[in-house]
Amino acid sequence: MLIFSLLKKSVPEPVKPNAINLLDFDRKGLAAFFVGMGEKPFRATQLLKWIYQEGIEDFDLMTNLSKPLRAYLKEHCCIATPEIVLEQQASDGTRKWVLQTSCGNRVETVFIPEESRGTLCVSSQIGCALACTFCSTAQQGFNRNLTTAEIIGQVYAAQNRLGNAGKITNVVMMGMGEPLLNFDNVVAAMNLMMDDFSFGLSKRRVTISTSGVVPAMYRLTEVCDVSLAVSLHAVTDELRDELVPINKKYPLNELMEACRENAKLAPRRTVTFEYVMLDGINDSLTDAHGLVKLLETVPAKINLIPFNPFPNSPYRCSSNNRINQFKTLLNDAGIVTTIRKTRGEDIDAACGQLVGQVQDKSRRHLKQQLQTSEQNGAAQPSV
Ligand code: SAH
Repeated sequence: MLIFSLLKKSVPEPVKPNAINLLDFDRKGLAAFFVGMGEKPFRATQLLKWIYQEGIEDFDLMTNLSKPLRAYLKEHCCIATPEIVLEQQASDGTRKWVLQTSCGNRVETVFIPEESRGTLCVSSQIGCALACTFCSTAQQGFNRNLTTAEIIGQVYAAQNRLGNAGKITNVVMMGMGEPLLNFDNVVAAMNLMMDDFSFGLSKRRVTISTSGVVPAMYRLTEVCDVSLAVSLHAVTDELRDELVPINKKYPLNELMEACRENAKLAPRRTVTFEYVMLDGINDSLTDAHGLVKLLETVPAKINLIPFNPFPNSPYRCSSNNRINQFKTLLNDAGIVTTIRKTRGEDIDAACGQLVGQVQDKSRRHLKQQLQTSEQNGAAQPSV
């Protein structure tokens, strides 16, 4: 059954003009903020506990802070998350929230309940600046990076909405956007997800997924120890250049080297490779053999993703039979391979189906519309 509830349509009023949003800081940032105003750094842990563990947003109730500090925070700061404007629940229990940002754009966050865990799929950008041909977020173009508050705010708002109905045990940065192109804000938000004074998730339960922004992958390996997933999707540069165009900048040999470097972070650490199954494009058994060869020197797991279609998408999903054959070949070669279960399809919440509402600054979606209408011989869309 599909439950559909419209919560609010309006753009949220800013709490106070120019107020400093305290959700924009991880613990280190918050400590620096307090030190900058002549306070002790431990105020950071006190504040994190109030916000993320006690759910208190009213500074007057933060009783272990001095009265003058509370008054200062009340006057100059706020705790503001993007507003949930729409909530949908799929027949399989998957929930999707549409969140309105202060600039009027909308991003999406998805909660996937399973027997033993609850995974939140979080967005990092409004739209996406990359142009992966099989992804509907890409067709929308790009507006801007989300702030740290807007990223951690998705976790905060989702957990509040879930209440006792579900617990977020895992976070995957696999929503809208390329997280490594919003490096600082994403890292600060992931630090908060893993901080014992806020969400306290273990590093194995926080995963960042990238299309392969190689220099940022090295930076990540240095500063933030989370699980890494790489959207591979092709085993030759020729095909990957087409499907994941950032490959033209950072080809497969450079990508694999960055993965090997990340895998060195800990013994027995693996990188997860995502591979979308596109009928007749990348799903031959030759491709599977190529994948085995490519991953020979990388400690790897593979997650095969059945392609989720969207309007005007040029691809079809591989048959179940083909996906299973592909999986068997990889498993037989000794690579742990799973098939991602498609969840939330009836509310467009599956991988690659998140679109929100993006005021495109890249004008890419217009080019897409023009291409489609030319292909269909239809009138051109008005600009
Ligand atoms: N930009 C990041 C994270 C967002 S996408 C990245 O590329 O990894 C999360 C995953 O969904 C990626 O592996 C992406 O390639 C995959 N995906 C995108 N569109 C899809 C679609 N239509 N069907 C199935 N998977 C898709």
